[in-house]
Amino acid sequence: MTTTAQSIDQSILDTIRAADPQVADIIAAERDRQEHTIELIASENHASPSVTVAAGTCMTNKYAEGYPGRRYYGGCAHHDSVEQLARDRAKELFNCKFANVQPHSGAQANTAAFMAMMEPGDTFLSLVLKDGGHLSHGMHLNFSGIFYKPVHYALHYDTDHPHHEHIDYDSVLEAAKEHKPKMILCGYSAYPRQIDFKRFREIADEVGATLMADISHIAGLVAAGEHPSPFPHAHIVTTTTHKSLRGPRGGLIMTNDEELNKLINRNVFPGVQGGPLMHIITAKAIAFGEALKPEFKSYQQQVITNAQTLADALTSHGFRITSGGTDNHLMLVSLVEKDPDLTGKDAEKWLEDAGLITNKNGIPDDPRSPMITSGIRLGTPATTTRGFKQPEMKRIADWINQIIESKGDESTIASVRQQVITLCRQYPLAH
Ligand SMILES: *Cc1c(COP(=O)(O)O)cnc(C)c1O
Repeated sequence: MTTTAQSIDQSILDTIRAADPQVADIIAAERDRQEHTIELIASENHASPSVTVAAGTCMTNKYAEGYPGRRYYGGCAHHDSVEQLARDRAKELFNCKFANVQPHSGAQANTAAFMAMMEPGDTFLSLVLKDGGHLSHGMHLNFSGIFYKPVHYALHYDTDHPHHEHIDYDSVLEAAKEHKPKMILCGYSAYPRQIDFKRFREIADEVGATLMADISHIAGLVAAGEHPSPFPHAHIVTTTTHKSLRGPRGGLIMTNDEELNKLINRNVFPGVQGGPLMHIITAKAIAFGEALKPEFKSYQQQVITNAQTLADALTSHGFRITSGGTDNHLMLVSLVEKDPDLTGKDAEKWLEDAGLITNKNGIPDDPRSPMITSGIRLGTPATTTRGFKQPEMKRIADWINQIIESKGDESTIASVRQQVITLCRQYPLAH
């Protein structure tokens, strides 16, 4: 937001432009898109200038296969320092004993975690994908569904029950007793409620399974103490670093168990990866340092307040928020109650034309396919980074309502687009 920060970004762009104007134009266009649209995708954020700049430094030039102090290449002294720093900060942030900061992404962190906890062909229990799970939790085309045997639990379905569309822990226990999985997996991509990690561990203990928590979405909330921690309940915790945690795109695996830690390390490298992305690990160290600051806690509190404000405002416009609301940074908006013919696909397109960036998302028990859907998913990490508070959330809800009620009317979309640009100019992004 400062002039200095903006000039850093400009000088990077100038450097690229001098060498490759074609790519510079693409980056400039993307910067302009981010600057003048409102990012409501729950898994996205705006990393700080120091994080994005660090990811573009000379730290990329090194092969550092292995781990600090045990590398396969010479010249790794500074890479050892930065990886050790990233690990130490991750451990402090999540209050755990061991951290592996090398996974290139969340899915790769999960691959290594699965390999550490199971043999190929073993059974694991996870939330069914259509209820808010992730591809890497057993989808048939993913490694997790190809090399392992997924069985699933579902959400609680009973419109009269206060826990309608919440995790049904009794059914988790039932499924665990029936299938005797080697591992139970919790943590989701589209679940707006708190996860009871303690309860999951009790269920895992009851059937002799291990517990894995994938906190990819809620990692920032957990780090700030705004969502209960998976520690000490989960045996292995995986996460992305780029969602609510607001770091560079990447993954992270943590545990308190020394033996499991050895297995995790071996399965990340050489199990699923070669050389670590040292420029990204450098940026992770910076992001974890940011997350340890007191401002990060108030940021995450505002993320939740903003999500609840947005959910309430949409509810008062007649939209149904699945599960009746949100405890975290995201919500699933069912469009059916507003307009039975409206699909998530159309809503996403109309909103994008107005500069409101969302994603279509299946709602629990959605009769429509994942490419069409009956809902949209909204999240507040990115808008909160930008500085939006409750009044801006109410304006966003008004705009969404106007566009949906107009059934995608072009002049309504054009008018909202102008107002979105005006608001974005009042809250410039830090570059
Ligand atoms: C986003 C996400 C992932 C995967 O992260 P990538 O970095 O895209 O591979 C894994 N698990 C959950 C629950 C997620 O939401």
